[in-house]
Amino acid sequence: MTLRAIEKSQTLLINEQSRQMESGGREVFKFGFGQSPFPVLPQAAAALAAAAHRKEYAPVQGMPELRERVAAFHREAEGIDIDAARVLIAPGSKILIYTAMASFVKADVLIPAPAWVSYLPQTKLLGHHAVQIATDFERRWRVTPEAVERAVQAKPDKNTPSILILNTPGNPDGLGYTEAELLALAEIFRRHSILVISDEIYGLLHHRGEHLPLAKFYAEGTITTGGLSKWCGAGGWRLGVAMLPRRLDGEFKDVMLGIGSETYSCAPTPIQLAACEAYQWNEILRDYLTHQRRLLELLGNRTAEKLRAAGVRVHPPEGGFYLFPDFSEHAAALAARGITDSQGLCAALLAGTGVALLPGSAFGIAPGQLCARLAYVEFDGAAAMARSREWGLARPLDESFLPLVFSKAMRGIEAICAWL
Ligand code: PLP
Repeated sequence: MTLRAIEKSQTLLINEQSRQMESGGREVFKFGFGQSPFPVLPQAAAALAAAAHRKEYAPVQGMPELRERVAAFHREAEGIDIDAARVLIAPGSKILIYTAMASFVKADVLIPAPAWVSYLPQTKLLGHHAVQIATDFERRWRVTPEAVERAVQAKPDKNTPSILILNTPGNPDGLGYTEAELLALAEIFRRHSILVISDEIYGLLHHRGEHLPLAKFYAEGTITTGGLSKWCGAGGWRLGVAMLPRRLDGEFKDVMLGIGSETYSCAPTPIQLAACEAYQWNEILRDYLTHQRRLLELLGNRTAEKLRAAGVRVHPPEGGFYLFPDFSEHAAALAARGITDSQGLCAALLAGTGVALLPGSAFGIAPGQLCARLAYVEFDGAAAMARSREWGLARPLDESFLPLVFSKAMRGIEAICAWL
């Protein structure tokens, strides 16, 4: 019996490990698993309860009313050119990314390193050829046009279609692209007819509400993916969306829908009805996002500052809830303690302090690069939101707000610094 070589996703494993330590009575600082700490939008939760009896299958592409809402929402919130006919709904954006790639018999998939853990295994499962695009701390872990050019030149067969996966704001780095960077990338994507899957699942959690969608610069070649998992705190609801460029609204869309109909069938009907409530660009939603954003901005920035003060290299985050600290300035001291790779670093840190991080190697960088992903979600999101509302929007959150909701998170960060 020959089985596929695929492991359980590393992000889920760390969660299990931390849970085991906790049940053994240890205090664990859960910076490993990237799950939104915030409650689901209450209006959406109420709509889900009301729709519990809706047991019928939905269309593979998604319910028309939801697709209309999603298109209108992204047009208003982000200014992208999209209509309901080009929106696909599925149980999570992860399966939509997979389905888009599965639509090709053969493709070269260009994946930045570091990048989210699932892109590479998905590519391999499909039998596509993966080409990694190295990025570095100095260039803010951003893909550059030169690196894309090199990756294209390295393709074994120039006639094989190229798919590039971009993720902005990024997991594991929390960073976005500037307008100039996106313009330059769009030019090279256009030149080489690269289809880009732009994973913008953290777009609405840009801390300043300044997310720049790639589709604004490269409309003809961008499939944008998103969904309820992050900004609506509803990862377990499994609702993802994909927005196709005009030229793929035909044969390509039909192939995606064909694959969808033979695999996931549809996103759950009650969840789609609840999503109709969430996808409304109104005051309630903007308020809900504003509080999440400012809370994440405060904690993300303070965490980055504390780590930097302890000699850890890290960029202040721009969106989502991740940092990608680089511990290489401590390499000699860590080596003296027997720590020479990111896996060892995370294991020693968890054992020594109860702080759970994910090793950089899980995100596709060399094991010896002493980086790790820190998800700053170790707080009670419902309590934090209530405190932020009490504080009011007229006054920016400041230092005195930190102990009100982030004391455990800050203790965890201090534990890392002291351990170093
Ligand atoms: N893309 C990135 C970058 C993620 O971090 C995640 C979840 O962790 C996903 C996609 C998965 O999203 P979904 O829940 O819509 O499948």
